[in-house]
Amino acid sequence: WKNAPPSLRAVIETSRAHGNATCVFYEDERVSYDAVFRATAALAHHLRDLGIGKGDRVALALRNLPEWPVAFFAITALGAICVPLNAWWTADELAFALADSGSRALICDGERWARVVGVRGALPDLEACIVSRIDTAPDGAERLEDLIGATDQWQTLPDRNLPQADLLPEDDATIFYTSGTTGKPKGSLGTHRNICTNVLSSTYNLASAPLRRGEMPPEPSPKVILLVIPLFHVTACSAAMVGYFVSGHAMVFMHHWDAGEALALIGREGVNLTGGVPTIAWQLLDHPDRAKHDLSSLELVSYGGAPAAPDLVRRIDTGLGAAPGSGWGMTETMATVTGHVAEDYLNRPDSCGPPVAVADLKIMDADGTRELPVGEVGELYAFGPMVAKAYWNRPEESAATFIDGWVRTGDLARLDEEGFCYIVDRAKDMVIRGGENIYSSEVENVLYEHPAVTDAAVIGLPHKQLGEEPAAVVHLAEGMAASEAELQAWVAERLAHFKVPVRVVFTDALLPRNANGKILKKALVRFFQTAMR
Ligand code: ATP
Ligand code: MG
Repeated sequence: WKNAPPSLRAVIETSRAHGNATCVFYEDERVSYDAVFRATAALAHHLRDLGIGKGDRVALALRNLPEWPVAFFAITALGAICVPLNAWWTADELAFALADSGSRALICDGERWARVVGVRGALPDLEACIVSRIDTAPDGAERLEDLIGATDQWQTLPDRNLPQADLLPEDDATIFYTSGTTGKPKGSLGTHRNICTNVLSSTYNLASAPLRRGEMPPEPSPKVILLVIPLFHVTACSAAMVGYFVSGHAMVFMHHWDAGEALALIGREGVNLTGGVPTIAWQLLDHPDRAKHDLSSLELVSYGGAPAAPDLVRRIDTGLGAAPGSGWGMTETMATVTGHVAEDYLNRPDSCGPPVAVADLKIMDADGTRELPVGEVGELYAFGPMVAKAYWNRPEESAATFIDGWVRTGDLARLDEEGFCYIVDRAKDMVIRGGENIYSSEVENVLYEHPAVTDAAVIGLPHKQLGEEPAAVVHLAEGMAASEAELQAWVAERLAHFKVPVRVVFTDALLPRNANGKILKKALVRFFQTAMR
């Protein structure tokens, strides 16, 4: 990883050499790498003139727009800390993260501004707001287009260098918030090195996918990448976007995820790579319009972030004609730590791959005192130059999570002889029934194999004597039927009897997920209680 770029400033400066090559397609807008660099330099000078410098936090609340990388690189090239905020958050959630990070400035779009404007009074640290995609300059804020123009004008901005800033790889670069699947989101403080080491693994995955399928060596860069996961998640930003800037790939951004539109874009733009989370791959596969589009350009469909049903990998290989890829990572590791593509993944459909070259994994017992041998399930710990420094402003949680360079992941996993990692469950999602451990994802995978089931989640219901009992919430495919008893019998044929859900509740809607495609099990427990009443 000594060959990784030393900083995000180096990444944006290097990317300038891609010149007129397309950096981002967004609806009918197209911006080149040169245009993005000019806009980044212009915005960086403006932020510097506002007094933003090393260590200052600047929040970013935008959908995936061409302005996203411009703002991200302008902030981080100055040595300031970029704080990407979840675009789905409500006013209160945005206010929480703005206050928690102590952000001095905010760059947002009109939609987010409408939410922030009402809570701004409660944010004394927030001195400056810059709003994009808004018709008139709002009171107390600047319009981004007044500073750097609209995307079609970036090319005509002066060709300037970035403002001077001394940056070291160990300097703080970002605060990404965790998804908040198990509690309140926590800010994870990452350095330039943390992010820049990801560039190597993402580049390798993309380059190796066709080779691993025994196909001709890939055409030289650039690739076309349909980037559909929100950039405020560390995976999209750090494992994907930052690496693509180094390689000069073209990114297609979408305002919001829509499987039908994504299929059309893949056909029209000749997309080579897409993915993000397993739900995206399923929706592409199951879409009624799939056969209408030419998907032959697709080389790799890769995902992570949430458990993937083992048969997804074969479906991608046959149904989309692309190499499947999967990986594991968390906000605290600043992106992916494990990953594999093509045959490796097809041969081990329940694994998320071995650790990337610069990472190490180990499995520890519940107290974190003893390392467990190969094959045993315990808590996964990860180590490497991608592991974040600490949580922002949370000394106690930091001390419990970041231990001697290792991060305690809260995931239960096992490793095999060859070092491949198998995520078994989140420790918090494991159902303990009278002392017997039930991994919710194991039962979910069996339910997914039932032809009528398209979405399933297993949760623990409180039980007086047993502590907890497993129950399932299931969504059936359109036009398909299955009864509670039938699904219980299905599980009973395949798993030990204590793992059979004591109740199966059906829901008309898909299960509630957060922006990262993860099922919100806390919400499901409430749903279950209401449904049972
Ligand atoms: P919070 O920490 O706020 O509760 P979160 O853990 O969902 O939310 P992220 O950092 O976005 O926030 O997600 C990391 C988690 O996602 C991992 O700890 C793991 O549970 C899950 N995950 C990531 N990749 C995979 C994968 N390939 N298979 C199964 N689970 C995965
Ligand atoms: Mg987490």
